[in-house]
Amino acid sequence: KMDRSLQPEGKPVQNTSFLQDEEATSKEEKIKIGFSMDTLEEERWLRDRALFKAAVESLGAEVEILAANGDDALQVLQAETLISQGVDLLVVVPHNAEAAATIVKKAHLAGIKVLSYDRLIKNAEIDLYVSFDNERVGELQAEAITKIVPKGKYVYIGGADTDNNAHLFKKGVFHVLQPLIDKGDITVVYDQWTKNWLPSNAYANMQEALIANEGKIDAVIAANDATAGMAIEALMETGLAGKIPVAGQDAELAAAQRIVEGTQTMTVYKPIPTLAEEAARLAVAMARGEFIDTDRKVNNGKVEVPSVLLPPIAVNRSNMDETVIADGFHSKVDVYKGE
Ligand code: BGC
Repeated sequence: KMDRSLQPEGKPVQNTSFLQDEEATSKEEKIKIGFSMDTLEEERWLRDRALFKAAVESLGAEVEILAANGDDALQVLQAETLISQGVDLLVVVPHNAEAAATIVKKAHLAGIKVLSYDRLIKNAEIDLYVSFDNERVGELQAEAITKIVPKGKYVYIGGADTDNNAHLFKKGVFHVLQPLIDKGDITVVYDQWTKNWLPSNAYANMQEALIANEGKIDAVIAANDATAGMAIEALMETGLAGKIPVAGQDAELAAAQRIVEGTQTMTVYKPIPTLAEEAARLAVAMARGEFIDTDRKVNNGKVEVPSVLLPPIAVNRSNMDETVIADGFHSKVDVYKGE
């Protein structure tokens, strides 16, 4: 710039295009992140959306967000839209771990890096994965429930089998259950995925489990709070709600309320602000061309993906106040509404 503003003889001249250059440069430098979400169904995703947006903006960048309503084809289309809008980096919560590989290919063809958010995209050369330790989520659930019911009949209400997290949650659960199954202390009498994570499917599954076992079950582990809520509905109809332990995940407000009321035993709290802020920080840094190094790597079937995995926290009635409430994730009045 200095060279251009100098005449050959070295005298500075008034040159207004110099100012225009500056403006153009600062506009060019405003990083734009595309955020492709699967769904806004569960309470948490609304938080993810708001917190991620705020975090990106606080870093001086901007974000365009689209949610696909659980529709694979729509998610690919929306990602294409973001790519054609010229985003500098794409952050994706895949509805379908395998189908989303298309998004990664398209982004890379356009020279755009991809960060897999909360859920891993499988069999694709993704650049970064930021999530929680999802296997640990399942372990925390099973540890809590086996403490209360060390022997008996267990029901597992899984997540969507198209979501890699659902497989990790289940792996964690069975990691804890297996030795007890081998000893003959625990029998898993029902174990099904919940198609598309739909609570109505979880309800149908729980009913099926109750019918198949003539109501003789001792514990339920559900992959998240939305499915746990519907499992508890089904338990209510047979008078079992509050009598047998139920585990969930997400620390949704309704689950926190059920925990203090006694129909749900525990949930797994994943501090979403930390995930959103960490993902935003890394996304913007990567978009600015910085090299990101992580301690952990996760194999997604194609590459060893540099990964950041945050710790989840088990929450029951006794530590509700010092966890979700102390963090301001929910207010005390909201959680203890009826008390
Ligand atoms: C997330 C959970 C969520 C579920 C359903 C999973 O991938 O990790 O927090 O409840 O999807 O949306």
